[in-house]
Amino acid sequence: PNAFLAGLPTTIFTVMSQLAAQHQAINLGQGFPDTEGPADLIEAAAEALKDGRNQYAPLTGLPELREAVARSNARSYDLQIDPNTEVVVTSGATEAIAACLMAVVEPGDEVVLIEPLYDTYLPVLRLLGAVPRCVRVQAPDWGLPEAELRAAFGPKTKAILLNSPMNPSGKVFSVEELDLIAELVRAHDCYAICDEVYEHLTFGVPHIPLMTRPGMRERSMRIGSAGKSFSLTGWKVGYVTAPASLAALVAKAHQVMVFSTAPNLQRAVAKGLNLDESYFHSLAQDLRAKRDLLSNGLHELGFPTLPADGSYFVVADIGRHANGQDDVAFCRDMVKEAGVAAIPVSAFYDPEGPEPPRHLIRFAFCKKEAVLREALSRLGRIY
Ligand code: PMP
Ligand code: GLN
Repeated sequence: PNAFLAGLPTTIFTVMSQLAAQHQAINLGQGFPDTEGPADLIEAAAEALKDGRNQYAPLTGLPELREAVARSNARSYDLQIDPNTEVVVTSGATEAIAACLMAVVEPGDEVVLIEPLYDTYLPVLRLLGAVPRCVRVQAPDWGLPEAELRAAFGPKTKAILLNSPMNPSGKVFSVEELDLIAELVRAHDCYAICDEVYEHLTFGVPHIPLMTRPGMRERSMRIGSAGKSFSLTGWKVGYVTAPASLAALVAKAHQVMVFSTAPNLQRAVAKGLNLDESYFHSLAQDLRAKRDLLSNGLHELGFPTLPADGSYFVVADIGRHANGQDDVAFCRDMVKEAGVAAIPVSAFYDPEGPEPPRHLIRFAFCKKEAVLREALSRLGRIY
């Protein structure tokens, strides 16, 4: 058996969701909305099933979805994308991340990553024989340390894998930070894999794709997810936008892993990407109000929250209530005693790296207002 996979623990999202179910807890752990995405998208997917969209879709995706991806890149970011050669549809951003890494990384190559990070990055990278070089954004303001970032790049660097808006921190990288990253990527003649699944979920700050910065159009692979943009996380439809030479390699990786993605869902997602700006605006507005509700409530209970300008998540400091417990023990007790699940932030650090912070936990606020209020009231009974 593969020793690395044998040693890989079950993802913390599954562990905490199971624990939440076991204790009838409110699940603010795993990030998924508790309201369905737009009804007409669901209708479109159902219609497509009846309309004979049940055989393999084209390898790189339905033309109508690739065209919708290209149009949305033009509309949101002024990026001119060829839908025929520069878009690859994948089965979720998860597959897209693996496919983009496969497209550029060879054994021994180094990849720069920013911690805390999403939990599929390191395992995929290690399975490819690549070497992670992690840099940490630091609580409480999630600042990016320039000297450490510069030091992480070297002659073996093949790529940076950047997640903005970022899970779990909620950080949205500023144009200055992006330009520093772009400078390093250009200087080291490497690639950028940009996980932008939360691209439409920002609160009062703009999301700027690294791909739009000088010299980055030809080096970047930009990943989006219908799950996040349309509150349909179970659909697992993702899309990669990349220059043709890289998109061709991403397509090869997709070919050997999945080959094609459910055609009815692709058709519905194309409809979603064609929605006008007001849809995306109200999605972000709604989440912003939820972030505020949960953050303010947590503050009042003595859990100061860290800035979160985007994503589904806000991180809180458990210091005042921890009584010597680390984040993992705290989350386990919180499920059982308060009936609220969250995710320990130490799970988002390289298990082979230096000691992670152990005083932070992540809450998902992509839930109904009444659910967030009930979670706060449960927490208020204990803390
Ligand atoms: N990247 C990040 C940062 C995520 O938070 C997630 C999941 N929520 C994904 C990728 C995976 O997205 P998908 O469900 O489309 O595979
Ligand atoms: N991305 C979601 C989160 O961060 C969960 C995805 C998953 O469960 N694999 O909570």
